[in-house]
Amino acid sequence: MAKKQPSLLEFQRRFPDEASCARFLFERRWPDGFVCPECGGTRSCLLKSRAYTYECVACGRQTSVTAGTVMHRTKLSLTIWFWAAHLMATHSNGMSAQQLKGQLGLSYSTAWLLAQKLRRSMVDPEREPLEGVVEVDQTEMPFRADNSFFEITKTGKMIVIGAVEVINHATGKAQKPKALGRKYLDTLSGRIRLAAIPSNHAPHIHAFIKANIAPGATLITDGHASYLGLADYRHDPRVVGNMAAHIPLKWIHRVFALLKRWSLGTYHGLRRQHLDTYLNEFVFRYNRRFYRHVSFETILGLAIHRSPVSYWDITGQQNPRKDAPTPRRNSRRRKTVEGMRQDGAAPVRHAVSPLEIGDQ
Ligand SMILES: [Zn+2]
Repeated sequence: MAKKQPSLLEFQRRFPDEASCARFLFERRWPDGFVCPECGGTRSCLLKSRAYTYECVACGRQTSVTAGTVMHRTKLSLTIWFWAAHLMATHSNGMSAQQLKGQLGLSYSTAWLLAQKLRRSMVDPEREPLEGVVEVDQTEMPFRADNSFFEITKTGKMIVIGAVEVINHATGKAQKPKALGRKYLDTLSGRIRLAAIPSNHAPHIHAFIKANIAPGATLITDGHASYLGLADYRHDPRVVGNMAAHIPLKWIHRVFALLKRWSLGTYHGLRRQHLDTYLNEFVFRYNRRFYRHVSFETILGLAIHRSPVSYWDITGQQNPRKDAPTPRRNSRRRKTVEGMRQDGAAPVRHAVSPLEIGDQ
């Protein structure tokens, strides 16, 4: 049923060079031809001085085909971005930086940043709250403090809270709530939500539930005291006691088991600092597991226009050079269609029809 995905080789034939990627971006951005975001003008010229940038003839506003995507102001080639996004999209478990490095011949640090940026687009765009009957539970996820493996002093555990919608197998729709304590048999798992929380105290748990589950839903939990006092929900605690917890909370336990296997298999354990990004990716893939095809366009950020994320945003560090004037001995170099160009050198500008870009 699902459309067969092209292999990386087929994909590389479709996007063999920068021009083919740029043409694709142009067509996605302006399917009916160039439109200036400033004045609505439709006449433009392609700048030779800056890569894939069009200048409005009417008002002079310059717009890059990569503006608003993860690729904006990148030093990497568009083909690398396209191919990496294709690999992330077609491997149902995703790709670690180590795997991208091997596939695309990049340095580890470049591959790592590329993977992080691509992963940030994998946030469920339609985060409608979960409804109906929802299992909620917590688990501990091991994490690594840094890139060192198997060093017991550098590992720890984080609490992850999760929720999963219970679906009725026969109808394929949200399970109707039953009287408290009644068993839900013959069910399926629906959409999920996950988040890392600093502790299992009530404020953190309540905040997660309010943010992710629609009021009026029935919450099936292990009866932990932190679930009490949620006025807008119907609480159906299952006292786990001697019974294994995976019996009354079957679906959320299956989600946690998959999450742990995935984090070890694909990423050899998660790093604490980036846990939310990984959890978002897992939720994104899980909620689409019957439609394995995540488009590479989604991963490139073409579907949703979001502001680009910098290295400093991802690592959570302060950019030491932010707002500081940059002392330069030589003027800055820019990437242009014809390679690097020194700033200040005379820009060459040709008025061409936008679609001639491939023939440059
Ligand atoms: Zn304009």
